[in-house]
Amino acid sequence: MHNTDRFDAVVVGARCGGAAAAMLMARKGMRVLALDRGGYGTDTLSTHALMRGAVMLLARWGVLPRLVEAGTPPIRRTTFHYGEEAIAVDLRPGDGVEALYAPRRTLLDSALVDAAAEAGVEIRHHHTVTGLRHDDAGRVAGVIAVDEAGREHAINAGLVVGADGTGSTVARLARAQVQQDARHAATCLYGYFPGLTDTGTHWHYAPGAGAGCIPTNAGRHVVFVSVPQARFAAELRGDRLDALRRVLRTDFPALAAELGDTRPDGDLMAFAGRKGFLRQAAGPGWALVGDAGYFKDPITAHGITDALRDAALLAEAAAEGGDAAFARFAARRDDLSLPLFRVTDEIAGYAWTLDEVKALHLDLNKAMKREVAALAAEAVS
Ligand SMILES: Cc1cc2nc3c(=O)[nH]c(=O)nc-3n(C[C@H](O)[C@H](O)[C@H](O)COP(=O)(O)OP(=O)(O)OC[C@H]3O[C@@H](n4cnc5c(N)ncnc54)[C@H](O)[C@@H]3O)c2cc1C
Repeated sequence: MHNTDRFDAVVVGARCGGAAAAMLMARKGMRVLALDRGGYGTDTLSTHALMRGAVMLLARWGVLPRLVEAGTPPIRRTTFHYGEEAIAVDLRPGDGVEALYAPRRTLLDSALVDAAAEAGVEIRHHHTVTGLRHDDAGRVAGVIAVDEAGREHAINAGLVVGADGTGSTVARLARAQVQQDARHAATCLYGYFPGLTDTGTHWHYAPGAGAGCIPTNAGRHVVFVSVPQARFAAELRGDRLDALRRVLRTDFPALAAELGDTRPDGDLMAFAGRKGFLRQAAGPGWALVGDAGYFKDPITAHGITDALRDAALLAEAAAEGGDAAFARFAARRDDLSLPLFRVTDEIAGYAWTLDEVKALHLDLNKAMKREVAALAAEAVS
């Protein structure tokens, strides 16, 4: 066992939630270590649409220019297609948000890791956290991490942050309670297509299916389809490109026509679906941010935005210190998350008519506006 010295906080997981939390805590003067079992700049299973709250935070943190300089295309119009009806919404500039963006995760996550390192965070990739350390009173007081060579490191910290995704080791070992379970899990197939005209983001809905086309880096568009799990099992097995084209032809003929026979870069990615959950956000000596604490179906494309939001709220609590500050963090996380969680679960159930999903989108919009207003108005990092 290699003993290292003590940190104010150790963050487990260094992608959007963890790298942002680590960066913000370091900027507040804390001594922070971030660990990730993966490598720097690697990809992950995720499309990339950032909502207004995410862009606002990235601009505030000075990270947005890195994404823009890397050629991430600005998105100024979002069009919702309900069957043949199309409703276009132009972005209203404000709060430091001139456009939305959908950066590749290789770019977004590494930009946040770089900003965290510049803020003084010590970052160790290829370190897997396997255990928690506790003090005599049973409070979480550090982690055990295993490096690539199989060496164990005992790391002491005043705060352990689980930013380690849906299967969070920190949540499991800290026995974070599940406060809410979602009822539905949809599945998703997506790929990166060259040569499409950039007319902003398009979200398409048909009874029992969703699809989207989102401009991202290098002149590519992410094209995805989302269907209930049962339909995935029945129709989407086998060749993934054939399956994507089949769903588009059946449910979204206009998008199928736009795609034509364009071939994607590499293989399509498949997400088999997972029901959402809301876990207890904090306990003695530990806290969760991002998917570790709260996961919802990707159909509302809000996970990255909420991971960044949680990082901002957590950094406030960590700088203030004390269990009461973490209890407030947890309450605010729950209050802002629950409306998004519930409406996402309804949309992911695919039991709606087109008029009903339109109404659900109005609810979603209301919840998003409330979240943006909270982040804009309050003195969060
Ligand atoms: C198909 C799909 C499409 C999506 N599309 C969108 C979208 O368009 N917009 C959007 O906002 N969101 C989207 N999401 C959701 C988004 O990807 C997640 O909400 C986001 O990745 C959460 O970030 P995070 O930092 O909390 O966790 P993650 O991105 O899951 O990162 C967790 C990190 O923890 C590390 N880790 C795990 N366990 C350990 C351990 N024991 N020790 C050390 N490190 C560990 C992992 O290596 C990983 O790097 C999508 C998700 C899916 C599945």
